[in-house]
Amino acid sequence: MSPDEEVCPLCQEANWQIIGEGDWHRDSMAADLPEYVKQRLDVLFNVWYPKSDSVRLTYAVCRCCGFVTYLPRPTNEDLDAKYRHLSQTVKASHGAEVSTAGSDREKERSRLVYRHVSAHAADGFKSVLDFGGGDGRLMHAFLAEGCDCTLVDYAEPALEGVRKAGNTLDELKNEETFDAIVCSHVMEHLADPLQMTRHLKDYSRPGGVVYIEVPMEIWKRPPIHSEPVTHVNFFTRSTVRFMMESAGLTVLWCVLGSHHHPLGHRTAVVRAVGRRDEAQIKARPSGCGETEMLLHPGLREYVQYARVVPETMWRRMKGRIGLSH
Ligand SMILES: [Zn+2]
Repeated sequence: MSPDEEVCPLCQEANWQIIGEGDWHRDSMAADLPEYVKQRLDVLFNVWYPKSDSVRLTYAVCRCCGFVTYLPRPTNEDLDAKYRHLSQTVKASHGAEVSTAGSDREKERSRLVYRHVSAHAADGFKSVLDFGGGDGRLMHAFLAEGCDCTLVDYAEPALEGVRKAGNTLDELKNEETFDAIVCSHVMEHLADPLQMTRHLKDYSRPGGVVYIEVPMEIWKRPPIHSEPVTHVNFFTRSTVRFMMESAGLTVLWCVLGSHHHPLGHRTAVVRAVGRRDEAQIKARPSGCGETEMLLHPGLREYVQYARVVPETMWRRMKGRIGLSH
């Protein structure tokens, strides 16, 4: 499918501006790369493009809403095949993740999410769903505060007291709803993030809140990754807000923040809380102004982002003014 024919998963328009291209080659899998990157290139060449020795992906911004992705986009089937393949080939890394579930950093992260949810859940909350949260480690603070915590993920819960309801939302009972839903670092992986946000709204009780957190990577400029398999959606505050409003949520809060990556470095993230209200929500795409600003930041943006992710912005700024890394 050519870029002209693919529609934006948020606004459904086909109005792309090309911002870069990335080339990947099958023979690079033999090079001295980190194991993580090799596993993802294995997906690219042995699951998604088994007949190709090289793959070119086109990064594009939607002129209507500012959403950034690469084209051709992987389908739901591609992404299912990716997770099946990785679950068969990468067992060791899952074991490593489980072992960090009780670390101080993970507990602090959980407390942070709890604070953001409780600050916006005006009429309180007891039942909480962690959607896509791996082993449910983000529920640590929620359990400590006496919440009933449910996990929907392929992983098994690492914390005692977290109930696993299934691998996917389809396994939840239709009538089951939650006071609060946490969806952290999931939307950037999905073929249809808007549809998933709608599902999350449907599983919220009226007046319940949905917390969404995604990485904010656009200012790294495309092609953003050493491999294109992991993240397929690149958000800004504007596009997170638009996605949540399009799903029928009232956006109560939407900010730029930073997140300690499990590997130790800090990355920029967008955090947002929406509420399920009875009123119809008007969602209007706000154009691609914020995305453009992030792709071509001025001094003001550097200062703003340096407050959030100082190490990374300093690296980027050094690159721009020609200092070596
Ligand atoms: Zn769009």
